[in-house]
Amino acid sequence: NLKKHFPLSSPIPFKKSRQSVKAVDGLDFDVYPGETLGVVGESGCGKSTMARLVNQLITPSEGIVEFKGKNLVHMGKEDLRVSRKSIQMIFQNPYASLSPRKNVGQLIAEPLVIFNVGDAESRNKRVSDLLEIVGLKKYHARRYPHEFSGGQRQRINIARALALNPEIIICDEAVSALDVSVQAQIINLLKDLQKEFNLTYIFISHDLNVVRYTCDRIAVMYLGKIVEIGTYKDIYENPAHPYTKALLSAIPKESPHGDKDQIILKGSVPSPINPPSGCPFHERCPVAMEKCKTVVPEFINVGNGHEASCHLLNEKQEERLYQSL
Ligand code: SF4
Ligand code: MG
Repeated sequence: NLKKHFPLSSPIPFKKSRQSVKAVDGLDFDVYPGETLGVVGESGCGKSTMARLVNQLITPSEGIVEFKGKNLVHMGKEDLRVSRKSIQMIFQNPYASLSPRKNVGQLIAEPLVIFNVGDAESRNKRVSDLLEIVGLKKYHARRYPHEFSGGQRQRINIARALALNPEIIICDEAVSALDVSVQAQIINLLKDLQKEFNLTYIFISHDLNVVRYTCDRIAVMYLGKIVEIGTYKDIYENPAHPYTKALLSAIPKESPHGDKDQIILKGSVPSPINPPSGCPFHERCPVAMEKCKTVVPEFINVGNGHEASCHLLNEKQEERLYQSL
């Protein structure tokens, strides 16, 4: 039940505003060791806030984040240090996330310095190894970020994220700013590293196409909530939630008639300050019913860990039950 509500500043000085941005509004999900969990949704649906909550960069308004059975939210300093080392992050913009004043060697060694790992000599050795691991050269340590291409800079970011031997890496739109061919190279690198170091990924993207070839399971987010979660096969071949269906229909298909069944959603994503009552998707849903306006749909298990929150699924289940009587 992870929540993050950011209070809005009040227009009246010294008065507390009662309004807040409900960026993350009740998330429940598991991530299993060695898997890649994809998190998709339009911009502003709370994906990055979720990532920052998991990484303990911000504290939740409500709910917990458990890592290996321990609640990260109210952890002692020492435990938190360990978990911070174990959960690393790669951000979207390879241009902005590297300080231009430091050379690549300093940038990659930075987490080691912050966490006081090893001496200067062993850090240099580690930097050389990391550069090779991500497909760069040892001498690149003396160069500066502006001397590299976007894809190479993302390799530098990956080396930095690997420096402390993490168990989980959160990739927040890690390939979104890159050209498609470079995207594929970085995704392949991430996959190889996953096998080699037994990494677990939370892979955040607004692009269902990118997630498709990367993830074991996928969670679809809308307005701070997960509306559907399942294996990538469940999501692509048998989507259950109308929002997932709409997202999938927007992916251009190869056939010449491909786009004719595209579902165009009405309007834009509603404000997370006053999210709609009932089903958060009801204002845009092409198959909304009267009760969707007032009743919040429950999560329905549509088979083997594939879950979605939509009243229609409830009705389908009742129908099936009725038929089996
Ligand atoms: Fe659409 Fe209603 Fe299902 Fe929400 S609960 S997705 S509005 S049909
Ligand atoms: Mg984001």
